[in-house]
Amino acid sequence: MIIRTKLSDAAWRLACLTLITMTTLLPAATTPERSAIEERHKWDLTPMYANQAAWDAHYLQVEQQVASFARRKGTLGKSAASLLAALQHRDDINVQLEKLGAYAMMRKDEDMRVPASQAASQRSQTLEVKYGEAAAWFQPELLQIPDARLRKWLQQADLKVYAHFFDDLLRSRAHILSPREEELLAMAGKATEVSSEAFSLLSNTELRWRTVKDAENRDVEITSSSYVQAMYSKDRRYRRDAFHALYGSFQEVKNTLAATLAGAMQRDWYYSKARRYDTSLARALDAENLPPGVYSNLLQAVDGRRQLLHRYVALKKKALGLTDQVHFYDLYVNLVDVSERSYTFDQARDLVLEGVKPFGPDYVAVMQKAFDSRWIDVFANQGKRSGAYNMGTYLSAPYVLLNYQGTFNDVSTLAHELGHATQSWFSRENQPPVYAGYPMFTAEVASTAAEIVFKQSFLDRTRDPKERAFLINQMLEDMRGTIFRHTQFAEFDLAAHSLAEKGEPMTAEALMKIGHDINVRYYGPEFALDPVLDVESLRIPHYYRGYYVYRYADSYCAAAAIARRIIRQEPGAREAWMKFLKTGNSRYAIDMLKVAGVDMTTPKPVEDALALFEQLLLELEQLLDRQQTAK
Ligand SMILES: [Zn+2]
Repeated sequence: MIIRTKLSDAAWRLACLTLITMTTLLPAATTPERSAIEERHKWDLTPMYANQAAWDAHYLQVEQQVASFARRKGTLGKSAASLLAALQHRDDINVQLEKLGAYAMMRKDEDMRVPASQAASQRSQTLEVKYGEAAAWFQPELLQIPDARLRKWLQQADLKVYAHFFDDLLRSRAHILSPREEELLAMAGKATEVSSEAFSLLSNTELRWRTVKDAENRDVEITSSSYVQAMYSKDRRYRRDAFHALYGSFQEVKNTLAATLAGAMQRDWYYSKARRYDTSLARALDAENLPPGVYSNLLQAVDGRRQLLHRYVALKKKALGLTDQVHFYDLYVNLVDVSERSYTFDQARDLVLEGVKPFGPDYVAVMQKAFDSRWIDVFANQGKRSGAYNMGTYLSAPYVLLNYQGTFNDVSTLAHELGHATQSWFSRENQPPVYAGYPMFTAEVASTAAEIVFKQSFLDRTRDPKERAFLINQMLEDMRGTIFRHTQFAEFDLAAHSLAEKGEPMTAEALMKIGHDINVRYYGPEFALDPVLDVESLRIPHYYRGYYVYRYADSYCAAAAIARRIIRQEPGAREAWMKFLKTGNSRYAIDMLKVAGVDMTTPKPVEDALALFEQLLLELEQLLDRQQTAK
């Protein structure tokens, strides 16, 4: 949900909210009440608060602390001592608020039907908003301290720690406008969000969904989430009908979708121009001080190796025994026909702890602690929030919510979330409160690296050719979905933004043509492009978040590069990894990744990830060939 960003103060470090997938949609009748679940499989939140009364008492304290922050107003530039006092006061409020909010949210997610938990969660959110309003003066006042004075103060031992914080703040000065202009920009905020809200309402509620027959001839309404389930079905007729139903629903409203998307692109360009950036991309990258290369390298490197995706599409055609071409609705189904194994949670624990051993004993020890100290809420229960997340705060252990059902995917999710938890742990153990989070650009790197190393070592220990093929297929799908697909989206994002910047018309036809051409180039000669697929680019919610999609692809490549060094036991790789985890938010994302041995200013991490794709693809081609011959 929220990851700490540069200027948002009291955001919780909640990384990676895995979206609802078919595996989390349990039939209600088989889901137990929370009381029926063994204690050892529920997280233990008592180290945070003994009970709700303790939380209530802490709430009153923090409320006073927030109220007293106003007396710092007008003191920041007076002396080094008063500046330090205000910064420390702010740090303290942030971590206390974070603790209150995290506990309330976790209690609410345990069983979302409990009104008292909902009320506590709302109270903590209200307090955060109050604090945000009460501290609105803080940043403008910091920016008014004369440079020379500030630099001199930052030499002092007790203020030195804030050097990076100020560096990050002050580099934005060139893009901060006069008070009246800032006020006008803020006033436009609600109006510029309308197209995004309209898209969300249309695509989530008001769209006319269609009904098709599933593999068992039952009626299924095809919405965005039931569509995902249908794509994994072995029944091609059902997949095809579901595909046409979903895309047909979106196509009916393509002109409205084009208008809302144009609105989002115009919004990004308006703020970029207003803040004196040359392009919307320049503004998006500057938010985290990222060099332009992180975007262009990705696009060029993936485009240069798109033949790998063509080859993978051709393999799908062969393995699925298709006599015509491969359609979009054939891309998701697993190529290996094997009945899936199930793992108990104890088995999952042993597999993950064994799998992450290459990261070294200090790392494994923290994951071990997660099991021993009950940081994990394992199983689904009535009313529990679906999906999975890690919730780490400065004043508590990093807790993990799961809805574990025993599939291999669930075991991987455990490794992924513990990857987040481990970063939260080392960050808070080694950093002062001001740097206890981590930069957004790196947020998925630690978790994905844990997941990749786990999967690779699991694969290394799997001898059965069929199971090996199944696992490799899953890893290739991870990479197709993350690297190729999100780079396609990133290409579209860039092209659509540039239409807005050049003032060219953004009609449904123009936008769909861009998406069409990208699909033709990426999927290659064995792919049959159904005309209705052209509407795809108009239905992707991430385009409303201002250059967001490329992060998925870049993070995966950075994580794959780290995983590769770790698995090969390259000298210094483990030490570099531990240093990365301990860096917290004390450096810029790009420098932090360099600490881990990954230089995202060059195309090498992307090229290496694609080399891994090729290596896995080759093995899958060979395995499937041998199975074909054995038949
Ligand atoms: Zn994640």
